[in-house]
Amino acid sequence: MSIEINQLTKVYGEQKAINNISFSVGTGEVVGFLGPNGAGKSTTMKILSGFIPATSGTAKVMGIDVAKDPLAVKKRIGYLPELNPLYDDMFIVEYLQFNADIYQLKNAKQEIERVINKTGLSVERHKKISQLSKGYRQRVGLAQALLNNPDVLILDEPTSGLDPNQMSEIRQLIANLSKEKTILLSTHIMQEVEAMCNRVIIINRGSIVADDTVSNVKQQISSGNKEVYIRFRDVVDAASLLQLQGVKKVESAAEGGFTISANQGADLAAILFKFAVESNTVIVEQKEIKESLEAVFQELTKNV
Ligand code: ADP
Repeated sequence: MSIEINQLTKVYGEQKAINNISFSVGTGEVVGFLGPNGAGKSTTMKILSGFIPATSGTAKVMGIDVAKDPLAVKKRIGYLPELNPLYDDMFIVEYLQFNADIYQLKNAKQEIERVINKTGLSVERHKKISQLSKGYRQRVGLAQALLNNPDVLILDEPTSGLDPNQMSEIRQLIANLSKEKTILLSTHIMQEVEAMCNRVIIINRGSIVADDTVSNVKQQISSGNKEVYIRFRDVVDAASLLQLQGVKKVESAAEGGFTISANQGADLAAILFKFAVESNTVIVEQKEIKESLEAVFQELTKNV
C-alpha cells in the first residue's frame, strides 16, 4: 500500500476535525478525496505529509509511519498544499533551486529541468513568480512537488481558484502524472473526480461516508434512490401515483409527466407498468434519470 490511514483522529482545541478515519491507497491508484468545505480533507493531508501531528491513530506512506519518521516520508512524497504558498519575489528557477536545496538533491540542475519540462513551465521559466497567472503558479507548485521524484503525490485542491481553461490544463497535467504516480487529490468539485480518478473517498464532518470506485458510489446511491421521468397517454393524478407501494416522491414535470423516485429495492418500472394497465392508460415516455456524482455527493453529505 502506498498510503495507509488507520483510525486517525485530529482534534484542534475543542474542534474534532477528523474522527477515527481509516482508508488505504494502493500503488498506482488515483483517488479523489471529496468533501464539502470544513470536512477534514486538508487536515488529513497535512497529517499524511508530516506537517501536523495526529491526535490519535496512524498514517503511513510507503510503509513508513509519518509520526515516527516524518523526514523519510517527506522524501517519498510530493505535497501541494492548499493555497500553494509560493515566494512571489523569487524567479521560478530560483524557487525550485531553493526547494532542491531543502531536499538536498544531488543533481539539482537536472531535476529542475526535468520538472520544468514535465509541468510545461518552459515558456515562462524566466519570470518571477509574482508575474505568473494562477494556472502557471499552480504549475510551479506541482513542479516543486515533483522535484524529489516522489512515488506518491498529495494534492490539496489543486485546481481551486483557477478559471475553466487553467483548470482543464492542470487536470490534464495531473492525468499525465497519474500514469506514473500514486495520487491522492482533494477537491470539492465532483467533475474533477469523475475526470481524473478511479476511486473516490467522500468525507463529511470528519467521517468517511463512502469509499469505492466512482461508478460504484454512483450506483450505490442511485440503486437506493431510483428516479424516473414518466408520461402517460391520459391524465393521471399525482396523488394516486404517490399511493403506489414503493413510490417515495412524485413531482410534476415537463409535458404533463412526472418525476418519480422509489424506495430502495422497489422495482419502479414494474410498479408503473402495472399502474398504467390498471388505470387503463399507456406509458408514452419513460426514462431513468441518471444521477450525477454531484447528486450522490449532495445526498451523502447532506446534514441530517
Ligand atoms: P477541508 O480541507 O475539508 O475544508 P479542514 O481539514 O481544513 O477541512 O478543516 C476541518 C475542520 O477543522 C474545520 O471545521 C476547520 O474549521 C477546523 N480546523 C482546521 N484547521 C484548524 C486549526 N488550525 N485550528 C482550529 N480548527 C481548525
